Amino acid sequence: MNIKEIILKKSHGKKLNWDEIKFFVDGYTNSEIPDYQISALLMAIKLNGMDAKETFFLTKAMVETGEILDLSELGFTVDKHSTGGVSDTTTLAIAPIIASCGVTALKLSGGGLGHTGGTTDKLCAFDGFNTNLSMQDAIKITKEIGTCIISATLNLAPADKKMYALRNATSTVDSIPLIASSVMSKKLASGANAIVLDVKYGNGAFMKTKKDATTLAKLMVDIGRRYGRKMDYVIGDMNEPLGYNIGNTLEAYEAIEILKGKQGKLFDAVIELAGKCISLAKNVTENEAKKMALEVVKNGKALEKLKQIVKVQGGSTKLFNGIKAKPTLIVYAEKTGILTKIETERLGTLVGELGATKQTLEDVIDYSVGVKTFHKLGAKIKKGDTLFEIYAKNKTQAKEFATKFIDCYNISKN
Ligand code: URA
Ligand code: CA
Repeated sequence: MNIKEIILKKSHGKKLNWDEIKFFVDGYTNSEIPDYQISALLMAIKLNGMDAKETFFLTKAMVETGEILDLSELGFTVDKHSTGGVSDTTTLAIAPIIASCGVTALKLSGGGLGHTGGTTDKLCAFDGFNTNLSMQDAIKITKEIGTCIISATLNLAPADKKMYALRNATSTVDSIPLIASSVMSKKLASGANAIVLDVKYGNGAFMKTKKDATTLAKLMVDIGRRYGRKMDYVIGDMNEPLGYNIGNTLEAYEAIEILKGKQGKLFDAVIELAGKCISLAKNVTENEAKKMALEVVKNGKALEKLKQIVKVQGGSTKLFNGIKAKPTLIVYAEKTGILTKIETERLGTLVGELGATKQTLEDVIDYSVGVKTFHKLGAKIKKGDTLFEIYAKNKTQAKEFATKFIDCYNISKN
């Protein structure tokens, strides 16, 4: 087989077969094929696309470059994956809800990236929480309490790591088949029997339109089913933060509030996603599954389960009693009007810059920093209303960021 012929074939818009795809994925992972040839091929794929079958082959070839977790001793397991958002703290609420309903989930999660927060960072807001458990310990805990959330440090789909870095350097990230295979290769290697995808669209997400998000979701569902997994998806609006809080401690606390029944968009998203997970695992209708999810919130079992997760993984449960720190600065509205636009990605990026996510590899995360918002799109805002509570390292930093946060809101007269 010859890489130049494969590049030529895709550049002419032809379909690649399994042998060709396996050849270039293995060749690249083993460094037998250089960056510049794969760069050309990735650009040809971005411009000419791949159909569902080719995308499945690409995903499968990527999965096969690394470890594939065997979770069979846990019985039927479920995973929920979000493509990343702002104030998206669903995992911290969904894991305890579905575990309380008898659904098993061993979740591998990541830290914050760019403008999106990371689940493991939010968990570490519970002082002492350990996300770096061995697989053996994670399996043991999952057997005991139904769930465990650890950092994704294993060598899952190494082809993706290498290709993702190359895509970043060659402007080939924004290709639906390349995103689908990248996400699904890691998900399939992590071993769950059922996967529920939460695909976001809007100005705070990778996909800018609902149409593109739906295409991506359907393609990923197709890949998962070809792989023999049970699949479902939700399309989530990211034209505004999902919840109200952004920042690790603030978001961990908002998950606690959700489990205490605090209503809103985040609550609805949590129940919908948990419902789909329960439905796939228990073979019940989505309506029945949602009822089960609501029941364990109402009777307090899910909140107790989150406490149990935090304790078992070594975290402090102090946060369950509330955030004791006062905001560094409160920002009030300077005019009356309707909130017509929120620059969601910018909001997320700013909270990252406050210190909530690593800006460089050596950075130390400040779990306490963040911002609490009070309004959703379409809200009527009166001059003097609280717009933001800023939790910063100090007053100077808070004042510097206040104007930047205000700039993320478009408040218009009509
Ligand atoms: N997230 C991924 O893991 N891969 C992509 O290609 C895009 C987002
Ligand atoms: Ca369904």
